[in-house]
Parts: sequence; C-alpha cells; structure tokens
Amino acid sequence: MIVVGAGSMGMSAGAHLTKRGVNTLLIDAFDPPHQEGSHHGDTRLIRHAYHGGPAYINMALRAHQLWNDLEEETGETLLVQSGVLNIASPAVYSYKTRLEHSRSLGLPVEYLDADEIRRRWTGIVVPEDYIGLYEPQAGYLLAERCISAYRKVAASAGAKLLTNTRVERLDASPGGVAVHTSKGVFHAGQVILSAGAWFKTLEPFLTLKVKPVRKVVGWFQPFNSGFDAGRFPGFTLGTPEGGFYGFPSLDGAGLKIGRHDGGVPWNPGEPVAPFGSYEEDEGDLRRALETYMPGASGVLHRGTVCKYELTPDEDFIIDRHPVYSNVWIAGGFSGHGFKFASVVGEILSDLATRGAASLDIGLFSMNRFN
Ligand SMILES: Cc1cc2nc3c(=O)[nH]c(=O)nc-3n(C[C@H](O)[C@H](O)[C@H](O)COP(=O)(O)OP(=O)(O)OC[C@H]3O[C@@H](n4cnc5c(N)ncnc54)[C@H](O)[C@@H]3O)c2cc1C
Repeated sequence: MIVVGAGSMGMSAGAHLTKRGVNTLLIDAFDPPHQEGSHHGDTRLIRHAYHGGPAYINMALRAHQLWNDLEEETGETLLVQSGVLNIASPAVYSYKTRLEHSRSLGLPVEYLDADEIRRRWTGIVVPEDYIGLYEPQAGYLLAERCISAYRKVAASAGAKLLTNTRVERLDASPGGVAVHTSKGVFHAGQVILSAGAWFKTLEPFLTLKVKPVRKVVGWFQPFNSGFDAGRFPGFTLGTPEGGFYGFPSLDGAGLKIGRHDGGVPWNPGEPVAPFGSYEEDEGDLRRALETYMPGASGVLHRGTVCKYELTPDEDFIIDRHPVYSNVWIAGGFSGHGFKFASVVGEILSDLATRGAASLDIGLFSMNRFN
C-alpha cells in the first residue's frame, strides 16, 4: 500500500494500516507535521454535536475514542476536554436539529440563552436573542502532536515514510499503481490519495471538486485570566458578520481565533501571502473579539496562514477513484476535518483491507457532484 500525502488523514491511515499488518509506504512532499498544509497552528476543535446529522455525530464519537486510544498507546496528551460553546445569532443557526440528533444519540448537550452564556463566561458579550449550545465533553486536539503520535505509531509498526518527496504522477491498472516521485518510482497494489490542499498536483490522474483557500488565525492577548485554558472553553460563533471559532489561551499564548467563512483562493505551488498581507487578516478577527469578547482583544501575539480545501457543500470526499478501483481518495476536508483524522484513517484502512467501512460514509461519495 502507498499513501500519497502523510498529513492529518494520511498519517493516521498509515498507522491504522500498518498495525493491521499491511506493508505501507507513506510519501509526503514535506516532513509532517509541517506548515505547508492544513494541519498546523497548535489546536483544532473536536465537537460532537454536528449539524450534518447522525453520520457525522457517530464519526465524531468514534474519532474521540480513537484519539483517546492513541493517547494511551503513546503516553501523550493529545485531546483536552475543555468543553466547546457554540454561540449563534438566531438569524444564522437555530441549533434545533443539532440538539435533536445529539440528544437522540445520548450526547450531553446544553441549550443556553444569552443570560446563561454571560453568567457562565463573563468575558462573553452577546445580544439578548443569541443562543448557545454547550458540549461539555468536546474540546480541542493538539494538532501537530497528533500527527507526530501517529507517525511514531506507524514507524514502530513498520511503516516506511519518505519525507520531502513530491508525487508528480500516477499510473494505474487493475494490476497495480505506479507512483512517480521526485525520488523515483514506487509500485503498490493499492494507493490512498490524501493530498489535502494540494490535490491539483495529482491532476489529470484525479480531478477533485476541491477549492484551496488561504485562511488565517491570530493569537490575541486577553486583559484578564478569564480566557485562560482551564477556565474558558473552545468556541464557535455564528454571527451576521461571519462565522468564527477559537480556543482559550494556552500557557499565555493568547486567545486564538479564526474565521471560517471567506478567504482568498490559492493555487498549489504559488507563494502564500504571509499573515498581515491583507487588512482583514487581523481586522476581521479583532472586530469579532471587540464585539463578542472585548476582554480578549489585546495585542496580537502571533498570526499564521493555513489552507482549507473546500468542496462545494463542505462535506468530505471519501471514496474510490471513479476509474481505478485500487485507488482510494480522502480529501475536501473543508476546514472541519481534523477532528475526524483518527477515524478517517480507520475508515481508509477498512476500505483498503475489506472494501467497506463500518461507519456510514454515504455522505462523502464523489458522485454527489454529478
Ligand atoms: C486555520 C485552520 C483551522 C482549522 N480548524 C479546524 C478545527 O478547529 N477542527 C477541525 O476538525 N478541523 C479544522 N481545520 C481543518 C483540518 O485541519 C483539515 O481538514 C485537515 O488538516 C485536512 O487534512 P488532510 O490530511 O486532508 O491535509 P493535510 O494535513 O494538509 O495533509 C496533506 C498532506 O499531503 C501532502 N501532499 C500533498 N500533495 C502531495 C504530493 N503531490 N506529493 C507528496 N505529498 C503531498 C502534504 O504535504 C500534506 O502533508 C482547520 C484548518 C485550518 C487551515
């Protein structure tokens, strides 16, 4: 088995496959974890009460379990159960179906009105009609550490990892796949493609409906300790001005905030404009903090640039190649895929070894765009 792209999904798939005894070669253009893909910037939210319905909720719960298993296996802390508070203007979300689905699956979710939000987290300022959905068992993942942990597990189970090796072309036939790289050609019976924001580099072998977008996040100094890890939850914030998400301040790093919607299209291979190249890089984030969390809108400590890979409906693509049945695809994680990397690795491993996944992945088929 060859895995092309050993980032969030690929490294996890490599670990799951190798532990099942599959001879696996992972190939990556960089040295994961790294800053050229979609997985850097310290933290990623893991929420369970998904708006996409029970298939997502079941995947999120299985993903959480697998992250806990990885922590046990490696002795590393990877997941911090800080709670996640979702806040929204009723003009943006109602949370009604999310609550129904979550409760029917036994998730402990709390529905909060604006008074209750302000009472529990005094740093939050929301208009009277805003609503909250609090997930006490949700939290955040330490992203680079997660990838390093899967890298360690894969290596100790016997996987080979080729770093700083670009895949330039693939040829497939029913008998096998040839993977042409900057360091030679490698052959395997099956291949997994998990190239994140860089899928375009694999065309014309595969053309995916995925749009890479430049995204920024910033770390801002709070004026008090109410935003520190241990006191403040992870959050999402749906407002008429945009959708935001963020994390408490870890070890004095500052409250981290990003904007989910918007962003500048990017083409693989082009330079990525550094943080601060556009007024809105800091401006959008600062304005959201000044409005909804003014106590966290101090100096900007740090900003970074990352990439989303957006599908038209922001659901993922996990499927077989449309022509070559021995090629599997995991892409289009649309700015919310990291939490699922553990379970996506397991799903890819199921698909490659048994031809089917034990979880429902019907939502993620490629032909929904036809
Ligand atoms: C700012 C930001 C915030 C986010 N917040 C969250 C969040 O809170 N919660 C959440 O769940 N998700 C979040 N996400 C989304 C999540 O991080 C991504 O969905 C996930 O990391 C995508 O994983 P991937 O494996 O597809 O891509 P990556 O992790 O980028 O891996 C792709 C790998 O493929 C390699 N590659 C590509 N092309 C080639 C080639 N031709 N040859 C060799 N190697 C190749 C790359 O080098 C890379 O290592 C966020 C993303 C960003 C950018």
